[in-house]
Amino acid sequence: AKNSNQSNNQLNSKVSNDDRRAEFFARKHRIAQQRKSLPIASVEKRLVEEVRSNNILIIVGETGSGKTTQLPQFLFNAGLCHDGKVVGITQPRRVAAVSVAKRVAEECGVQLGQRVGYSIRFDDTTSSSTRIKYMTDGLLLREALLDPYLSRYSVIIVDEAHERTVHTDVLLGLLKSVQKVRSVPINECPNIDRMKANNGLLMEKENDAQRASILKQCRGIKLSPLKLIIMSASLDARVFSEYFGGARAVHVQGRQFPVDILYTRHPETDYLDATLITLFQIHLEEGPGDILVFLTGQEEIESVERLVQEKLRQLPEDNQKVKVLSIFSSLPSEKQMQVFMPAPTGFRKVILATNIAETSVTIPGIKYVIDPGFVKARTYCVHTGMESLNIVPTSKAQALQRSGRAGREGPGKCFRLYPESEFEKLSDSTDPEISRCNLSNVILQLKALGVDDIIGFDFMEKPSSEAVVKSLELLVLLGALTEEYKLSDPVGHQMARLPLEPIYSKALILASQFNCLEEMLITVAMLSVESVFYNPREKLEEARTAAKCFSSLEGDHPTLIAVYRAFDEFSEKSNLGNSREKTEKNLRKWCKENFINSRALRHARDIHRQATFSPLQIQGNIEQMGLGIASCGDDMLQFRRCLAAAFFLNAALKQPDGTYRCYEEMALHELQVEQEQQTIQNLCDTLRSILRL
Ligand code: ADP
Ligand code: MG
Repeated sequence: AKNSNQSNNQLNSKVSNDDRRAEFFARKHRIAQQRKSLPIASVEKRLVEEVRSNNILIIVGETGSGKTTQLPQFLFNAGLCHDGKVVGITQPRRVAAVSVAKRVAEECGVQLGQRVGYSIRFDDTTSSSTRIKYMTDGLLLREALLDPYLSRYSVIIVDEAHERTVHTDVLLGLLKSVQKVRSVPINECPNIDRMKANNGLLMEKENDAQRASILKQCRGIKLSPLKLIIMSASLDARVFSEYFGGARAVHVQGRQFPVDILYTRHPETDYLDATLITLFQIHLEEGPGDILVFLTGQEEIESVERLVQEKLRQLPEDNQKVKVLSIFSSLPSEKQMQVFMPAPTGFRKVILATNIAETSVTIPGIKYVIDPGFVKARTYCVHTGMESLNIVPTSKAQALQRSGRAGREGPGKCFRLYPESEFEKLSDSTDPEISRCNLSNVILQLKALGVDDIIGFDFMEKPSSEAVVKSLELLVLLGALTEEYKLSDPVGHQMARLPLEPIYSKALILASQFNCLEEMLITVAMLSVESVFYNPREKLEEARTAAKCFSSLEGDHPTLIAVYRAFDEFSEKSNLGNSREKTEKNLRKWCKENFINSRALRHARDIHRQATFSPLQIQGNIEQMGLGIASCGDDMLQFRRCLAAAFFLNAALKQPDGTYRCYEEMALHELQVEQEQQTIQNLCDTLRSILRL
């Protein structure tokens, strides 16, 4: 009996191996078929020719036509990655960079990180064999600090350019000048000395390969030309073409089935409520097909998800076959990937998404779209210097993109939850982000790249000079720029190098002088992830009690440090004599008991621990700059001073009614007559002197 059992087992495992292999080949075949059927597949030759004969090319195409996943592969196959050069593709969103890279690695049948990889802040999966590299637009800007000519790239594709993120806009300006530099002999390039001088500090600390490449450039050799491709989903290629001196634009046809657009008769007072009603109407009255709902952010998505589940439970069992999934930027990528899977047979998939699903990711199976007509957008108040995220109506272009999602695989329907007359009132397209954000980070990077004249920089859309001046002032106050608006040495250079907002970089640099860098590194890592405190609605009291164990009278930041250290200590202890799985399990349990978001905390730990050098990591940069890492132990006074000295512009005063007002707001609107003359500079000085820094 024993024997036959054993052979049975062997048989089973053989069968399942065969199954697995069959499944693998079936999937491979399916992917190959899918690729062949993409609209872009039929124009591969033509596109490659266009790229060969144009140094700048604008490609406009419907979402889902295959631009992002296929074009880099076409270029690789056509030999555009010669001599170890890389095709780089930038995305405005981290999640798009990650999910597309994974998909393309699979399509190519290679391991992620080999021929195909991605690189985003704090997470780099590329290797020396990577030839197709997906990354965020912000990351490529960082790379330019170390390699001002982007010499590793033969082609750079700026994807989703219609989004006009601030990084995309700055990148376009930079790429334009890099392309010029790479098309003339080095010694004839007007900017070369300035670029070299400004990178002097960086050059000393380059690794050998980078130094060799810079030296080579200095001998006057002409660099290999850089090809630029701008890809966009919107139909307006003209702005890009004009900016690049009448560059050639090509259109890739997409398959688009008719989409019925339905409006409400009256404006909705509560669009979430209207969303739920519409969702269930579709589910109960319309034919099969998945539903995509556009919401503004994680909180909204989570509350709608809860309401949908509640309502579903009240339906007869036959009608309960709905699989609700969500996708937003901060969702971990395994979870994000679930939206691409088909729903179980007989089930309808409902996807609750932010505007990430407008163009960045394509979800198969969608037949119905619900568009409440809102989006969360960054806004910036020049007077207070404060940025905020506000919920605002979408633009017409966004509304069109959203409805287009319903017609990918067959005719579809889009439910706009506002009257048709409102649609006419929407603005045509979204304002570029550069016109509504704090520019200090970008300005610091441009300065480090040797661009001294920020107002004169070749922006596609010039930011207001008021906003530029405000950000310059902030950088002077932080000590990154001198009074003459030059990058200060060493603080400005150091701040530009760290992959962080200037305020955070400043906090780290100060902390190294005041012997509390260890604490500040933890703080910055913790501030770089979503909240580590988990507050489920049903257990708010318990969560609050749990949080009290960590809370420090000295403020939120020492509290964050306490959480991190408690986690670290527990993890060290549970590591001893336990297997990895067991440790992981213990850690998850610990987090659950303490109402800690384990994913966020792990992410913070990863950011904090990365010690190998990479331009994307904090610790590696800190060490390379020779900043001393020391701990202040229990004496948090120095630490708090450093925080205050870096974050002083965010200082606010508690008002009698319990609300807070930031200093500048008061300076502008509230101060009494005698104080009215005081400028922000004075206020900052006062604050600093109180803190004796
Ligand atoms: P575009 O950039 O033109 O919008 P993409 O290259 O992103 O198009 O996507 C082309 C097609 O590839 C999509 O329609 C979808 O069918 C498929 N696809 C892309 N990413 C994934 C993924 N992560 N999983 C499954 N299919 C995907
Ligand atoms: Mg795309």
